[in-house]
Amino acid sequence: MKNNVKNDELIDEIPQVTTAATTNPAAAVVQPLTPTQVDDDDDAVDLIGDYEALKSKPGLPCILPKEQGKTVRFALVKGVKAFVKQTHFLAGVNSKGCTVICPGGDCPECKKGGDHASRRKVVALAIKYETNGDGKFTASTIKPSLSVGFINLSPTAYTELSDCPSEGEDLYSVDFKVTKKTNGIGWTFNRMSSPPSYLKVQMEAEVAELAAPYLDGKALKSRLGKVVSPIEMKVMLFGSAADTSPTLDDLNVWD
Ligand SMILES: [Zn+2]
Repeated sequence: MKNNVKNDELIDEIPQVTTAATTNPAAAVVQPLTPTQVDDDDDAVDLIGDYEALKSKPGLPCILPKEQGKTVRFALVKGVKAFVKQTHFLAGVNSKGCTVICPGGDCPECKKGGDHASRRKVVALAIKYETNGDGKFTASTIKPSLSVGFINLSPTAYTELSDCPSEGEDLYSVDFKVTKKTNGIGWTFNRMSSPPSYLKVQMEAEVAELAAPYLDGKALKSRLGKVVSPIEMKVMLFGSAADTSPTLDDLNVWD
């Protein structure tokens, strides 16, 4: 271990070297050349102490099928809030495109109008059943495999989903099946069973456990799109020449 402490400090430090290194790893790090440069440590973290907060967590996946003709069976979880926002899909951004939440007011896309107008998007937590890609359980299934994810719904898809329950049923008392349309654009929603299969086989506890990490709505809400300011949106659309962005200036701090 490196020892760059002064002699008078060394006397006190020696018995605690191991502890100090564990609880305060930053103490042994090389001092910055000009300490005044590093005056903003709001985002400082302790790589050991903040382990729980920093470690990667499994993301909340979209459960809608990606392949044409594939079907997914799912149920919505009662008691979990859904979220809605006006959004834009920026096709050319990040090669794959990027969905942003409309910043309102000075939104550069809303100003263009027409096809660029914002679109309402709803996201809801969903429990997906493992099936053979057709939404049906195999004959030997006693308890289906469950996983948690989300669905996102355009206004059309939301209407279609809402029309699925029969008289006396609601969105939470049925299993749905969703199939990617053969033209590859959008999904078809249908009612599959009532009550939902997880209730029929008494898997409420499993569903509650799967949903528990998402009850605060943070992960679900983040699936609506990226939160951007009108200026950040302009930079995404037109590149850095469009405006000066504070985030670009920040990079120079490290030069
Ligand atoms: Zn907008």
